[in-house]
Amino acid sequence: MSLIPHLINGELVTEEGRTADVYNPSTGQAIHKLPLASRETIQKAIDAAKAAFPAWRNTPPAKRAQVMFRFKQLLEQNEARISQLISEEHGKTLEDAAGELKRGIENVEFACAAPEILKGEYSRNVGPNIDAWSDFQPLGVVAGITPFNFPAMVPLWMYPLAIVCGNCFILKPSERDPSSTLLIAQLLLEAGLPKGVMNVVHGDKAAVDALIEAPEVKALSFVGSTPIAEYIYAEGTKRGKRVQALGGAKNHAVLMPDADLDNAVSALMGAAYGSCGERCMAISVAVCVGDQVADALVAKLVPQIKALKIGAGTSCGLDMGPLVSAQARDKVSGYIEDGVSSGASLVVDGRGLSVAGNEDGFFLGGCLFDNVTPEMRIYKEEIFGPVLCVVRVNSLEEAMQLINDHEYGNGTCIFTRDGESARLFCDEIEVGMVGVNVPLPVPVAYHSFGGWKRSLFGDLHAYGPDGVRFYTRRKAITQRWPQRASHEASQFAFPSL
Ligand code: NAD
Repeated sequence: MSLIPHLINGELVTEEGRTADVYNPSTGQAIHKLPLASRETIQKAIDAAKAAFPAWRNTPPAKRAQVMFRFKQLLEQNEARISQLISEEHGKTLEDAAGELKRGIENVEFACAAPEILKGEYSRNVGPNIDAWSDFQPLGVVAGITPFNFPAMVPLWMYPLAIVCGNCFILKPSERDPSSTLLIAQLLLEAGLPKGVMNVVHGDKAAVDALIEAPEVKALSFVGSTPIAEYIYAEGTKRGKRVQALGGAKNHAVLMPDADLDNAVSALMGAAYGSCGERCMAISVAVCVGDQVADALVAKLVPQIKALKIGAGTSCGLDMGPLVSAQARDKVSGYIEDGVSSGASLVVDGRGLSVAGNEDGFFLGGCLFDNVTPEMRIYKEEIFGPVLCVVRVNSLEEAMQLINDHEYGNGTCIFTRDGESARLFCDEIEVGMVGVNVPLPVPVAYHSFGGWKRSLFGDLHAYGPDGVRFYTRRKAITQRWPQRASHEASQFAFPSL
């Protein structure tokens, strides 16, 4: 088994010490060893980033953007190789892996606009001979900590923008599927990024704690589960860092009686079961307004769930691969048992699935629960697997109350043909990202991504305009050039016009 290296100061480095196994979830076999960074290794990455910062912050934004143009090309040229690595370690299908990479590249394209997005704001003649402007300056060394479910896209939400804003970056990717993340960072160096500006360190809690505690790290971007997001937000802000910490989700789709049901079913199949339900924007609850809608929905979903094509992610033409780990599969199976014992109707049971030739893979078939109620654990908690829960309500208002009362507020959508219902939903729903007949309303790179309530800790969303604000500090400069030979008397009253 090969040892996956860190990337520090432009060099691939390994270290003696603790390691973790990286699995291929389709075969159930460990395929790589991963070093878990010590405090000393984290400090080396911080030192490299700190040393690279003065020159990088003074590099013209247009030159920084040129690196991103080349990076985009390299990512596109290496799409097949990257998708293969994602699929091998995460388990998602090759098509799904290519999709996440494309959505990641969108963020590189946005970062190519660095000279435009960093232009600042200027006001002439705010007073006699006085001009004022706001400058957006980099923070210094910033770090990102990312989850397993999007090893390419989520890191790309962070560092292209942080870097074109003039910062130096340390990425701590998920320890479960780090190879594609590392390859992508290597491509950024190949694109011409100076050494030390981008560093990748592997590790677990010890590595994350070292980043939180380091005074040189000025900001932390985190994406992962809610308990860890909350921890990183509390510990980071306590130390005066800027933190954006995106957490877990429970995303509801509301089906109105006037919805185009066939299209809603197609949309729900992809949104609930794509990537084995391991997406923070996956739809995990279908809220049906009226029993008629619920009965028709369940009748249409059942044959399609049973017909899902499931196998090794790296095979072509599949709908779903395995879950990421044996623990993830067992956790989801535990939720299914819990749902049954709490009285929900298990209409499709995906447990016990065996894939010929990959009998040791972490597979679980699609599952569907009907008659789920709000006090059940399968409703309240994030399952993060291929499980869709149907909840029956009597009105749109009841559906919205349900969603607004939920702990999470990441994404949601409504299927309807009625503009008034859609408008009310968009106005009143307490969720950060909303779709109307769009099941996965993941914002494009020139908007920003973020949930509400316990799906995000911090003030600014990820990437897009909020990302620029997160990775820069505003400096307001007021400048006077008195006219020659003029003399201004002292002014003791507070300066005003
Ligand atoms: P996770 O919280 O277990 O891990 C995320 C990162 O935190 C990893 O890099 C991991 O090494 C690190 N980590 C784990 N335990 C830690 C600890 N005790 N202290 C410090 N760091 C720790 O999440 P995951 O299982 O990799 O990813 C799935 C979760 O991420 C789901 O809850 C999903 O909803 C969420 N997610 C959210 C978004 C979003 O945008 N809101 C996007 C993707 C994933």
